Amino acid sequence: MPHAMEKPADFHHAASLLRFETRAFINGQYVDAISGETFETSNPATGKHLAHVSSGQAPDVDCAVQAARQVFDKASWSGMPPRERKKILLRFAELIEKHSAELALIETLDCGKPIRDSMGVDLPDAIETLRWHAEATDKIYDQISPAPRDVVSMIVREPIGVVGAVIPWNFPLFMAAWKFAPALAGGNSIILKPAEQTSLSLIRLASLASEAGIPDGVFNVVSGMGPTAGRAIGMHAGVDCVSFTGSGEVGRYFLKYAADSNMKRIVLECGGKSPVIVLNDVVDFRHAIEGITTGILFCQGENCSAGSRLLVHESVKDQLLSELKTAFQAWPVGDPLASSTRVGALIEKEHLAKVMSYIKSGKQDGATLAYGGQRLYAESGGYFVEPTIFDNVKNTMKIARDEIFGPVLSVLTFKDTQEAIQIANDTAYGLAASLYTNDLNAAHRVARSLRVGTVSVNCYSEGDFAVPFGGYKESGFGGKDKGLAAHDQYTQSKSIWIQLR
Ligand code: NAD
Repeated sequence: MPHAMEKPADFHHAASLLRFETRAFINGQYVDAISGETFETSNPATGKHLAHVSSGQAPDVDCAVQAARQVFDKASWSGMPPRERKKILLRFAELIEKHSAELALIETLDCGKPIRDSMGVDLPDAIETLRWHAEATDKIYDQISPAPRDVVSMIVREPIGVVGAVIPWNFPLFMAAWKFAPALAGGNSIILKPAEQTSLSLIRLASLASEAGIPDGVFNVVSGMGPTAGRAIGMHAGVDCVSFTGSGEVGRYFLKYAADSNMKRIVLECGGKSPVIVLNDVVDFRHAIEGITTGILFCQGENCSAGSRLLVHESVKDQLLSELKTAFQAWPVGDPLASSTRVGALIEKEHLAKVMSYIKSGKQDGATLAYGGQRLYAESGGYFVEPTIFDNVKNTMKIARDEIFGPVLSVLTFKDTQEAIQIANDTAYGLAASLYTNDLNAAHRVARSLRVGTVSVNCYSEGDFAVPFGGYKESGFGGKDKGLAAHDQYTQSKSIWIQLR
């Protein structure tokens, strides 16, 4: 696989040469599902078959958990000196970087996302996330609490044990890295369950973990369907923690699985309906336009923190909307393997139908379709939708309340900042928000008033690797991804009180 592929033709040629590994990776080996069953994965840009993937079920999950538990108990990884673990994780990052063109290509073929994003965002972010947490391995200290002189009172962190990580389809590698990097850094064993739509990149990645020197059984990937493989991870008594990213509906199942099994720790990162507020003191819209456009069109809007509700002061709406329409034209929709494409295909036929049904409901509910709204390139067999803007949206409409997970922006207006905050917070979600203003006081005050986990001001951002990410309200709870806070998900604290005699 060449590393410096640039021209679209190169990507198509490289894609034609790819041979996918489709088996689960358990205890350091690729294995078929015990049942021998497989499921199909296809290319969202063509609707065509890509591969048959092993359909892991409860017995496969059980094998992975046993292997993960055995190696954890042997302490070959969990008990390894942190500096040694760090070296291995850094080698793992290096190997991912070496294979990043291949992994990016797999990601684009399986997800439908533009190759410029797979190469320019997903892979670099996964690699840097791993490096960041690897570096933290030998830099996190335990604590000594205040105690009498004849007592030593220690608060030590210990790995939680066997971690299950259940991953969505929108950023398969990058979401997985948010979880496996801190989990492995802390000495845990992990079982990753990719979304059934996008298993191929994580399966491929698994052999690189072995090549880097991660002991067998520490890094496992079990592909399979949610209600079978996903449920088996949630219900398994040998799993100590599940870190889940996905829909609220499935997040709720995990709470139930934990309650019905061993009360394992559950960390949920669920959806969002993030507001983007533009105050009327903004004179130059350039940053706002760039942030709003990226916020809703990046990853075809299939992004949990997509800025899908634009709340703009009524006095500046017309000008902003007009500039926004021009900016949308600079986001070409098309072949994800063409390097000029910025909006790829939606993940699958059912999801395309769901997004189109929201566009229909926006029109029926009385919002004004101001831009786009059509399915594109149906003849290709792919699931492409035009970037879409609805104007005159009310926050009670379905398009303003539900997470559409597509390139559909709702525009609402407000009269004053209090009203903007009220509309922004009037949602079941609380993942992220953006704010555009030139007023420093307003920036601080509004940021504090928004009931969300991340606020970006004068940009669209989730912050870098050092910044914790997670939601308020139904966007999730139980822990954060990214930053040192992510390590808390995968460790537990132990208090040791020693009376000196
Ligand atoms: P999903 O909830 O359908 O699936 C997520 C994972 O759960 C998949 O691996 C799936 O196989 C598994 N799953 C499905 N049904 C299951 C069941 N009954 N039991 C156990 N596991 C099951 O979500 P999705 O469609 O893959 O992803 C889209 C959703 O993810 C959106 O709602 C989005 O907002 C959310 N998301 C959130 C974040 C975040 O960080 N907050 C990031 C990305 C995506």
